[in-house]
Amino acid sequence: MRALVSATISIAALRHNLAAIRRQASRSKIMAVVKANAYGHGLAAVAQALGEADAFAVARIEEGLVLRSAGITRPIVLLEGVFDCEQLAGAAQGRFDLVVHSAEQLDLLRAAPARARFTVWLKLDTGMNRLGFRPNRFEAARAALARLACVEQPVRLCTHMANADTPEHPGTLQQLALFERACAGLLGERSVANSAALFAFPQSQCDWVRPGLALFGVSPFGDKLGADLGLLPVMTLRTRIIALKTLEAGESVGYGSLWTARRRTRLAIAAVGYGDGYPRNVISNTQVLVAGRRAPLAGRVSMDMIGIDTTDVPDIQCGAEVVLWGEGLPVERVASCAGTVPYELLCGISQRVAVDLI
Ligand SMILES: *Cc1c(COP(=O)(O)O)cnc(C)c1O
Repeated sequence: MRALVSATISIAALRHNLAAIRRQASRSKIMAVVKANAYGHGLAAVAQALGEADAFAVARIEEGLVLRSAGITRPIVLLEGVFDCEQLAGAAQGRFDLVVHSAEQLDLLRAAPARARFTVWLKLDTGMNRLGFRPNRFEAARAALARLACVEQPVRLCTHMANADTPEHPGTLQQLALFERACAGLLGERSVANSAALFAFPQSQCDWVRPGLALFGVSPFGDKLGADLGLLPVMTLRTRIIALKTLEAGESVGYGSLWTARRRTRLAIAAVGYGDGYPRNVISNTQVLVAGRRAPLAGRVSMDMIGIDTTDVPDIQCGAEVVLWGEGLPVERVASCAGTVPYELLCGISQRVAVDLI
């Protein structure tokens, strides 16, 4: 039985994107960021397809455990570290590498089980002001880690950029300079760059880059598409037409009757809605592809359905394929119609969407 709504995941595109990132950051190792179910693409399957990555990174320890259960043996970094003794023990057992960003996490490591040993990424807060030691606390944190038998030496060093997706923003160069200054003379491997930084600021690439979005073929920049960066879309979200009708001028469609036909209209109803993760707040005129042709939405997005004005698309039958985003229709464009970022759309596809690898 074929699912009505499916997200097909192209393994070939994933590998193409990994290779494109390797060319872009040819002197760096790649830590593939696969948090949030690999940005909605399927955690275990994506990591298996990206077996050539040098390491993986996740946000939560549960995500790391899924990767180990799936047979992933590469290093796995917990980007936010651990938050209690139980998680620290779990991290030792899962052989996870830890980001350490707070005094509380230093205390946890001081009380680590006797034989535990961790690769640690010490995080500097260079201006994101989310996680990380402030510059004036950084050296003390490093010295504290240097005294711990459970920590591999030298510790690795990392920070995170707040504005790399807006290359003209002066904050990125300031953050990079602050990181350089704080790390001067230290031996550990370094990591700074997310997808945006690794493309827009090659000087940020250092020993390890940490791409997430770019692996999935999507651009982090508001004024560029994945294709402009040499990337291929990995996820294509598809559904089918389940009803067709002809409306006379003046008849309206959907909840709130917000859309009214200005001419005789061939209206198609497709099986997808916000219950699948298609955004409800798209502006009118947002487009989909019906049998490969662009056509605008008509009326509000409901939980399970959308209306499409297919008057200008000839010969549409029930069962015709509709692409919501992916091949032929960049998710970046849909995100901009929804007033959000592609990250949110990708990782927001819901449980009832069938995820198929091809
Ligand atoms: C999510 C995340 C990344 C990946 O960011 P992209 O913009 O998807 O490339 C890198 N580093 C950290 C710390 C993150 O949280």
